[in-house]
Amino acid sequence: MRTADVIIVGGGPAGSTAAWRLRRGGADVLVLDRDRFPRLKLCAGWITPEVVRDLEMDPATYPHRFLSFTRMHVHWKALHLPVPCIQHSIRRFEFDAWLLERSGATVVQHTVKQVRRVDGAYEIDGAFRAKYLVGAAGTRCPVYRSLLREANPRARELQTVTLEHELEYDWRDPDCHLWFFDQGLPGYAWYVPKQNGWLNVGIGGMAERLKMRGEDIKQHWSHFARLLGRRLAPRAALDPTGYSYYLRGGVDVVRVDNAFIAGDAVGLATRDLCEGIGPAVRSGARVAASILTGAAYRLEDVTGASLGGGLVTRLLDWSFTRGAVQDGRVAAAAVAGAN
Ligand SMILES: Cc1cc2nc3c(=O)[nH]c(=O)nc-3n(C[C@H](O)[C@H](O)[C@H](O)COP(=O)(O)OP(=O)(O)OC[C@H]3O[C@@H](n4cnc5c(N)ncnc54)[C@H](O)[C@@H]3O)c2cc1C
Repeated sequence: MRTADVIIVGGGPAGSTAAWRLRRGGADVLVLDRDRFPRLKLCAGWITPEVVRDLEMDPATYPHRFLSFTRMHVHWKALHLPVPCIQHSIRRFEFDAWLLERSGATVVQHTVKQVRRVDGAYEIDGAFRAKYLVGAAGTRCPVYRSLLREANPRARELQTVTLEHELEYDWRDPDCHLWFFDQGLPGYAWYVPKQNGWLNVGIGGMAERLKMRGEDIKQHWSHFARLLGRRLAPRAALDPTGYSYYLRGGVDVVRVDNAFIAGDAVGLATRDLCEGIGPAVRSGARVAASILTGAAYRLEDVTGASLGGGLVTRLLDWSFTRGAVQDGRVAAAAVAGAN
C-alpha cells in the first residue's frame, strides 16, 4: 500500500493548485490521474488576469503559448460590440502539464474507481492510503460520487453540454469572439486564438433547455461551423468533441471529514460565462489552506460570476437557466434524479 499525507484525485487546475500549495506547505502529496500528462482537456483555454495572479504566473517566463487580448467581440443577433478587456489564452494541453509539474507532487497514472474510509484514513482501490483526500477529478469525480453526492446533489438545470475543437490553424484575427444565443442557443459559441497558430472554437449550452426545445447541440454546431467557414476560419478542418460540466449551484457541502472536493467536481463554473479554470484554481488553493492550517473550507470567495455579479451577470444567468435555480440554491424538486 502506497501512503501519503494527502491524495489528490485529478491533476487538472483544481488538483494541481491544491498540490502546489500543499507541497509548498511541506505536505507529502500524491496526485492520481487516469491520464498521462500532457493530456488533452477540452477547453477554450481562456484565462482571466485573476487566474494568472492566483497561480503566481509570470507570462514573460511561462514556457508555452500565452496570448493576451485587449479586445473581445461580443455578437448578439445583428449587434456587434467590441469590448476593451485584458484577458488571455493558453493551451490546456501545455498549461495543465506545466502546472502539475511545477507543483512538485508525485504523480501516478491511475484511474480511481473505489474510495473507502478505513480507520480514519482513505483507501483508494486497495493500493493508496492517506489521511486527507481531495477530489478534483472533474464532473465524474469518484470522490464526489462516493462521499459527497448525497450531501451536495447537482441540479440538472445547471448542466452544460459543449462541443469544441482545438487545432493548428493560421488565424488572421487575433481577438476573441463570442456569439450569444445564436439560433436560440441557450448558451454561446466562441473563437479563441492561441499564440503561434493554434485556434480553439466551440459551442456550449444548457443541456436541459436544449432538451426541452427538442434540439441537439450538434445542430447548433453545424450552424456555427458554417459561420466560421464564411468569416473567421475558412477551410479549417473541424471535427469537434463533447464534454459536459456544471455551473455553480447549491454548493454548501464541499467537505466531509477529511475528504474535500474542488473545481468541476463541485460544479463551480460561473453562471454568466461558464468559466471554470478560475474557480478550480481558487477552490484548490482553499482546500490546501484548510488542510495545512485547519481553516474552514468555504466557497464564499470563489467567484460564481465572471462579470462581477451585476446586471449583465444576472441577465446571462437568467437567459441560460431561466431562473430555474435561484441564488445558487437548489430546490429539492429540481435535483431529483439529476445525478
Ligand atoms: C468545451 C469547454 C470549454 C471550456 N472553456 C473554458 C474557458 O475557456 N475558460 C475557463 O475558465 N473554463 C472553461 N471551461 C471549463 C474548464 O475547462 C473546467 O471548469 C476546468 O477544467 C475545471 O478544472 P478541474 O481541475 O476541476 O477539472 P479537470 O480540468 O477536468 O481535471 C480533472 C482531472 O481528473 C482526471 N480524472 C477524471 N476522472 C478520474 C479518475 N476516475 N481517476 C483519476 N483521475 C481522473 C482527468 O484526467 C483530469 O486530468 C471549459 C469547459 C469545456 C468543456
